[in-house]
Amino acid sequence: MELDYNSLLLALGVSASCLAVTLGGSWFSRRPETFLLTCSAGLVPIVAGIFSYGAYVDKPRLTLAILTFVLFFIGFSTIWAAGYQFRMRRFSKTRVVLGSLTGIAASVPAMLAGYDGLAFIGDNSVVAVLLLLTAREYWLSRQEAPTPLYGITALYTLTAISFVLCAGVLIWNGSLVLGHAPDNWAEDFSLAICIAGMTGIGALSLALHHWRQAAHHRLEAITDQLTGLLNRRALFDLYGQRPFGPSMAVVVFDVDRFKSVNDQHGHAAGDVVLKLFAQELSSGLRASDTVARLGGEEFALVLDNALPGRAEQIAERVRTAFAAREVAVEGKSFTCTVSAGIALGTAEGIGFDAVLSTADKALYVAKRNGRNRVEIAVHLHAVPPDVSRTAS
Ligand code: GH3
Ligand code: MG
Ligand code: MG
Repeated sequence: MELDYNSLLLALGVSASCLAVTLGGSWFSRRPETFLLTCSAGLVPIVAGIFSYGAYVDKPRLTLAILTFVLFFIGFSTIWAAGYQFRMRRFSKTRVVLGSLTGIAASVPAMLAGYDGLAFIGDNSVVAVLLLLTAREYWLSRQEAPTPLYGITALYTLTAISFVLCAGVLIWNGSLVLGHAPDNWAEDFSLAICIAGMTGIGALSLALHHWRQAAHHRLEAITDQLTGLLNRRALFDLYGQRPFGPSMAVVVFDVDRFKSVNDQHGHAAGDVVLKLFAQELSSGLRASDTVARLGGEEFALVLDNALPGRAEQIAERVRTAFAAREVAVEGKSFTCTVSAGIALGTAEGIGFDAVLSTADKALYVAKRNGRNRVEIAVHLHAVPPDVSRTAS
């Protein structure tokens, strides 16, 4: 069975329409992922452009050619904007306008002047550039999900190359005036690449969408919603199986008399205090340090590589900075304090549970000794009050 050019164009138009509906539908199921909606919106003028080009192939009228160019440039510029939106998570109107105007400037004046071949050279060249710019957006995002992003970059690049070939053949043949739609091997090749590329790009865009969805759920499961810190579960996932050597330390913080903050200033004010403390705890740490909210008003800091005295220094810095911080809620301002307990790992290595519970005991000592202070557990097994000392 031999398919003519118009039947293939029809196939491309139908598959692009289906893809637009699929991408739009996937966006509907997870609205924050707007790059899918932008992709779907970009396909609409492309589909209309494919059909108007089909009509131009049959009857080469000037208006049809200009309509095709305009629709293609709006569509491909929007697809570029969708790539940018995938990477930067914001829509870029500038890209749509810039891409469309550049394409129109590169083709429409030549078409109006009777140089239809030159107009198609301009059209193919600008579409190729827009596709390469789109490929670049996914290439720059490749770390997020390497396999689908390498695939999508390759497919956009391959499609761009097929448009370069279309322009190249017209230039090579010196076809500045044609009187009909370009008809050469590069056009057939490009159409085949577009059909295959569109299917692949569609499948990979959906894969990316699902990958992001799964990543979002994974992140939600390990994040404390109020403070944005890791939660208790994440901390145990990270350290639950690792022995704590002598260079590792756990510091447990607990906001002092937090219940009375809630009672006096309201639960919302209590939440503000927790967020401020989370900020204070996270500032000035190294990449290897981990902070988490254990629950309620209790937080933990795990130091992977604590030089002697570093845990005490950090705990003391957090304690004093937090005590000095004014909390302003509904026109009133107040301050809060925090107590901390520190425990270190041992030479033979000890489990995270044990270090955490020892740090908790040191914290209890800090509470008993008057609050707003840091206590260090000297020995891991038992921490009688007389061996704990104030770090300040
Ligand atoms: P201490 O100095 O001994 O630690 O006393 P405390 O009042 O801080 O400790 P207590 O355990 O009696 O009270 C903790 C309070 O924290 C009780 C609970 O209502 C409140 N709380 C727990 N989670 C949240 C939260 O997410 N937001 C707010 N606003 N309050 C919370
Ligand atoms: Mg407390
Ligand atoms: Mg508590």
